[in-house]
Amino acid sequence: MHFHILTLFPEMVLNGLGTSITGRAMANNLLSVEAVNIRDYANNKHNRVDDYPYGGGAGMLMQAEPVYGAYRAVEDSIQERTGKEGRTRVVYLSPQGGTFSQSMAEEFAKEEDLILLCGHYEGIDERVLEEIVTDYVSIGDYVLTGGELPAMVIVDAVSRLIPGVLHNDTSAEFESFQDNLLEYPHYTRPEIWHDKQVPPILLSGHHANVEKWRREQSLKRTLERRPDLIETAILSKEDEKYLKKLKKGLHESE
Ligand code: SAM
Repeated sequence: MHFHILTLFPEMVLNGLGTSITGRAMANNLLSVEAVNIRDYANNKHNRVDDYPYGGGAGMLMQAEPVYGAYRAVEDSIQERTGKEGRTRVVYLSPQGGTFSQSMAEEFAKEEDLILLCGHYEGIDERVLEEIVTDYVSIGDYVLTGGELPAMVIVDAVSRLIPGVLHNDTSAEFESFQDNLLEYPHYTRPEIWHDKQVPPILLSGHHANVEKWRREQSLKRTLERRPDLIETAILSKEDEKYLKKLKKGLHESE
């Protein structure tokens, strides 16, 4: 998969994503990250890409033309490489977008190319957004100084769904948000740490019992920490029975 990040700070995203698992995946050609400097498409001798907002108000705005120029260059090179005519998905990172989720990551992972547009200052001239953006995505209800960290969050979450990026392919499968539940707790050596014993069932070697315990822990943890997820979780009859028991226990202890 090919990520194309339109940004004023290419080194920030390349340094961040070039490390650890995404860096290894890039080195192994499982994914590529191109950081395109929007400033290279400024059409004035001072390379300025921002200006005052019409109507007044605090802060500066990124101008439409340099953003459009960077987008056009990337879109043209994608079309040249793939021979496809259709438009590439363009994600504008914005606190005004829908909140990024695991299901969005799964959807983006189906794309061959993804363009991520990072804003700065007060944002970007609305007219270019109307023209090129297909998806508005936020990483949460707070305001950051730029779209670079959100773009890195998306590249990271999508990358780990690409086959081969994680060495163990099953580790992306059984994780939080699978079936809309949180993941069960994990333990590693030593068996006793600070007087705390690893749950004995995990040492039993009985695979079916371990799976049952993990599923129950997932349900319990989701009910305690993110009860909102339970509403849309994919549950078996057995899960529902166990949840009923848990909820009854909670009521009794109140
Ligand atoms: N004036 C804008 C508003 O109120 O919606 C906020 C601009 S913010 C200071 C600058 C840039 O940071 C945005 O254009 C966007 O690309 C990025 N950004 C800030 N917070 C974000 C968030 N929660 N999720 C995604 N991108 C964000």
